Amino acid sequence: MHSQLGDLLSYASSTPLPPGTLVRVPLGAREVLGVVWDAPSQPQPVAAPGRPVQLRAIAGVLEGIAPLDQHWRRLVAFAARYYQRALGEVALAALPPQLRDLDAGQLQRRLRRMQSAPAPENAIEKIAYSAEQARAIAEIEAHPGPFLLFGSTGSGKTEVYLHCIAQALMAEPAAQALILVPEINLTPQLEARVRARFAPALGDAALVTMHSGMTPAQRLKSWLAAHSGAARIVLGTRMAIFASFASLALIVVDEEHDASYKQQEGARYNARDLALWRGREQGAKVLLGSATPSLESWHASRPPTADDPQGGRYQRLHMPSRIGAGALPRVRIVDMGQQPRRAIFAPPLLAAITERVQRGEQCLVLLNRRGFAPVLHCHACSWKSDCPHCSAHQVFHKMDRSLRCHHCGAASRVPRACPACGNPDIAPIGRGTEQLEEHLAALLRNVIVEPQGRAARVARIDADTTRARGALEEQLAQVHAGEVDVLVGTQMIAKGHDFRRITLVAAVQPDGALFSSDFRAPERLFALLMQAAGRAGRDAGYVAAQGQPPEMWLQTWHPEHPLYAALRRHDWPAFAAQQLAERLGAGMPPFAHQALIRADAKSQEVAQAFLSAAADAARTAALPGLELVHLYPPVPLAVQRVAGVERAQMLLESASRPALQAFLAAWQALLHAERPRHRGLVRWLVDVDPQAI
Ligand code: ADP
Ligand code: ZN
Ligand code: ZN
Repeated sequence: MHSQLGDLLSYASSTPLPPGTLVRVPLGAREVLGVVWDAPSQPQPVAAPGRPVQLRAIAGVLEGIAPLDQHWRRLVAFAARYYQRALGEVALAALPPQLRDLDAGQLQRRLRRMQSAPAPENAIEKIAYSAEQARAIAEIEAHPGPFLLFGSTGSGKTEVYLHCIAQALMAEPAAQALILVPEINLTPQLEARVRARFAPALGDAALVTMHSGMTPAQRLKSWLAAHSGAARIVLGTRMAIFASFASLALIVVDEEHDASYKQQEGARYNARDLALWRGREQGAKVLLGSATPSLESWHASRPPTADDPQGGRYQRLHMPSRIGAGALPRVRIVDMGQQPRRAIFAPPLLAAITERVQRGEQCLVLLNRRGFAPVLHCHACSWKSDCPHCSAHQVFHKMDRSLRCHHCGAASRVPRACPACGNPDIAPIGRGTEQLEEHLAALLRNVIVEPQGRAARVARIDADTTRARGALEEQLAQVHAGEVDVLVGTQMIAKGHDFRRITLVAAVQPDGALFSSDFRAPERLFALLMQAAGRAGRDAGYVAAQGQPPEMWLQTWHPEHPLYAALRRHDWPAFAAQQLAERLGAGMPPFAHQALIRADAKSQEVAQAFLSAAADAARTAALPGLELVHLYPPVPLAVQRVAGVERAQMLLESASRPALQAFLAAWQALLHAERPRHRGLVRWLVDVDPQAI
């Protein structure tokens, strides 16, 4: 099996090789990595009657590595089938690249360095669990799951994960646990916490991480550790769902609603969904956790009712209270219609920030960047800094006075005057975090932080300030050390960080997502704001000593919007119920299943013509499942042109997942056949269960 080829290839071997064996095989003039998929089931292929094909022999077996087990092979085969990709592509993407590159001697040296797992000792923490934690733990022990742990930020979900991991590892001397997190760079604290908890009992080598920021050598090491069983705990991002385990017993998916579990290129898999599949297939317990679950998981975990005696497939566990009686922050909504015109910070919010900072407390200002990147604009002729290659604006970066396209990366220098009319007075419209940081620093210029008696400090964390390796950690350390009074940033700062002295969080322009064309935008906004709110008042002792309850401020032009009303009460269930009622009425996920087919081409006409022709071909051929699948007309993408390529998509929807799957599987051949008929078509791809429409 090989990555560029869809189908299995046959090779000869002088000795029988069990399925899953890693081998080197000749392909053309090269030697590539392969996996023995099946023992030969059919007689040898025949080239001409009576004359068997001469099979090429494998070049060698990767000695010392146990074959990939059937669970791994089934997972890979399922993912390839479900997400409409070649088996070889998915399998080889799931293996560390160095397996291919190292020669036999190098590999042997790596393998010798691996330690075997030490005998497990008692790793259960002797802390008194809250009643809610104790109940969740008891349920998880008593039932097969899968579970959705619906707990407020700071309710002690992570402690529940750690307890369940300890339980699983102690129940079975070889058992392993997988913890999936959205982005490893954002959660160094979790890694430290897991290490502190388990390294004393299991040794430091028993925990390994897996994420895309690792070097090939580190990836190989982690992969071998999981595969051999030396690692008892794997902490990783979405890619880790494809790790090979010797004995996987538990999968935890933290922040299960997070969009980064969906891979956005190649095989567009969703690691959370694969975790559920994998857990069921190999009998590992699956524990999803979130303060704002995805509506899919929320619906799948609905309790049984009189009308719906079955209820959902998952078991929902609820932990509403924060540990240590730390209250969730009070939500304050500022009606921007009542504020001075053009105010970026409403006066009452600015006063609240000032007061907190003066007392030595920290504040966090969140800018939901989507749609708010600053664009250069000429007031005389309304010229805007458009990207020459994309249907998007280039964004103004003040730091190096450049204009940059966030889609294709095209950069240019800021012009001295309007390129269209020569007006020298061109200025950015809209605000980015950089402008916000500057503006706030100016507003707080004269504020003195007591008791130190020093001037207030504003800092910014976003994609621009954290590009360098280690930059994020360094900046977070400054916040933790109290060197920063107000932190300004994007969604990046809303996630997971355990800031101890932040008592006020403000979202300054959250409205953008209320009226988005993507039906998931409100769900994302609510989750983001709840998560951001969770950064405030995490240390109940500190809050009590300071004497002022934590607050979350929202500046909005739509104070009556039901989303904000639910947010004010921290009422995810009410918001979810309202959203689900809308989705049910409109026949949208989770009540329907979707796939997108996208075409990129030289022109929009070619892209759409390919999609229309593919739909016509499906109808003519009366493909299986077609009667239950609705094909919408092709439309341009929201950002229609990127790097000079036009993009179009077509949405497929069905109430039946099997029908949609049967249709997509049968459609592949027609799509391949259609492709050469469309000159100027660059590529096409299928996205099953798309996250963004
Ligand atoms: P979550 O993952 O839900 O945000 P955590 O597990 O991080 O919550 O818990 C929040 C804080 O409370 C952490 O500092 C944690 O150490 C502490 N904590 C959790 N459970 C307990 C407990 N039973 N007793 C005391 N402290 C706890
Ligand atoms: Zn102009
Ligand atoms: Zn561009």
